[in-house]
Amino acid sequence: MRIDLVSIFPDYFAPLELSLAGKARDKGLIDIAVHDLRQWTHDRHNSTDDTPYGGGAGMVMKPEPWGEALDQLLGERSTVVFTTPSGRPLTQAFARELAQREHLVFACGRYEGIDQRVIDDTAGRAEVLEISIGDYVLNGGEVAALAIAEATIRLLPGFMGNPDSLVEESHEDGLLEYPVYTKPAQWRGHEVPPVLLSGNHGAIATWRHDQAVRRTAERRPDLLPASAIADDLDLVPAV
Ligand code: SAM
Repeated sequence: MRIDLVSIFPDYFAPLELSLAGKARDKGLIDIAVHDLRQWTHDRHNSTDDTPYGGGAGMVMKPEPWGEALDQLLGERSTVVFTTPSGRPLTQAFARELAQREHLVFACGRYEGIDQRVIDDTAGRAEVLEISIGDYVLNGGEVAALAIAEATIRLLPGFMGNPDSLVEESHEDGLLEYPVYTKPAQWRGHEVPPVLLSGNHGAIATWRHDQAVRRTAERRPDLLPASAIADDLDLVPAV
């Protein structure tokens, strides 16, 4: 997979150089590049924003630098991700969809967002996805792009040493993950649930499933209607 990230604050993407992208790159799974949007500006102030038509607070990102950036970066099979709080919410299933793409270009907004014509124009020549990482407003799209990229990259086939660790994770089967424990078996008076020390794999699997359903019912009852398992355990959430 090829990933291009475009931002007026490219330094935000330094964390990608640490473990995640480095590991994926070493394994030959991704080719990643960060671009400063200002390289596609032509005035002496390298302006990327201007006042909004119609008035109102804040500034809007100008279309010309974005248009030129995308002209240069888009290929035949590119998907452009515009990060926006009004986009489709990122979920594990959505990250799995993204992991199937060949080329992701992340366009990170700032200020009041990017001129709508950039999104409309791009949709005429590439797949466009507007993605939100949650119902809150960040100052810019960089943190959102990092979250989306990380959720996607770790799902690429060959990234995880042990792919089983992906299968049991929260949200993979519609449930939150069960609680996890490691050594020592006793710590500050807290004990590991005895079933986990029993060596009985069937009992452990049943306990974990039960814990996952209970935890989901307590913390995220909104997830449970999607899961028939909840009905089995009589844990139908309060409406
Ligand atoms: N005025 C915009 C609105 O109300 O939708 C918010 C603009 S926000 C201050 C600046 C940029 O941060 C957005 O263009 C977007 O790229 C990014 N952003 C903010 N919150 C986000 C979220 N929840 N998910 C994805 N991107 C977000």
